[in-house]
Amino acid sequence: MEESRQKKMNALLTLSHELGSERRQMAILGEGNTSVRLTPETFLVKASGSSLSTLTRQDVVECKAKNLLSLLERKRLEDEEIDAALLRSRVNPKSKKPSVEALFHAFFLTLPGVNYVGHTHAIAVNQVLCSPRAREFARKRIVPDEVVCCGPASVFIPYTDPGFRLAQVIRTRTQAFVRRYHQVPRVILMENHGIITLGRSPEAVMAAMFMAEKAASIWIGASLLGGPTFLAQHDIDRIANRSDEHYRQRELKL
Ligand SMILES: [Zn+2]
Repeated sequence: MEESRQKKMNALLTLSHELGSERRQMAILGEGNTSVRLTPETFLVKASGSSLSTLTRQDVVECKAKNLLSLLERKRLEDEEIDAALLRSRVNPKSKKPSVEALFHAFFLTLPGVNYVGHTHAIAVNQVLCSPRAREFARKRIVPDEVVCCGPASVFIPYTDPGFRLAQVIRTRTQAFVRRYHQVPRVILMENHGIITLGRSPEAVMAAMFMAEKAASIWIGASLLGGPTFLAQHDIDRIANRSDEHYRQRELKL
């Protein structure tokens, strides 16, 4: 493996171990997954059934993006067809089967400035996403650092069957977000399921993930006291456009 491939593989393993770390309570057993853009045509993604906290090189699969992206154009697909396509997308036929969520990873890695993707079932975020206020959590912001690390809003995905359908809905809703906000989202929230964060670097994926989880905890606490009180839109816009915040974002590798 040449040096930059090696570096990306190591960065992916470190990111996976951080997201899967027991103390963070974001993923247990086979929950969650991660990916990195490797070449213009391929990406690395966690294999199906492997665990983020103990991920090794053998649990990572290199996939051809085109194979998976073309699936998203289909109207319907049987589970067996999806399985066969996942296996066919492998660069090395001896590697393990990629996670079915590789479909949405393939899509996100086509977005400008997105090199890494992380997905978890974080507890506080899911407490909100399994509540009637899930959509509101995606649309609103409560503290300045949430705007800096998670963007001015998140993409909200109503509950959808995981796999093929979910990847299609994610694509449609993310494209609508880009048209509305003129920027690529940092955070995607899936009702009754979990969170996806995107970034140029592993640090950006972690910053968005950890800040969203912290914001969710604050949200839950504040809601017990009759809140939360939300940031006003002009304050969100101001933070998003402040030059000192841009400096901080660069320093944080966002
Ligand atoms: Zn999931």
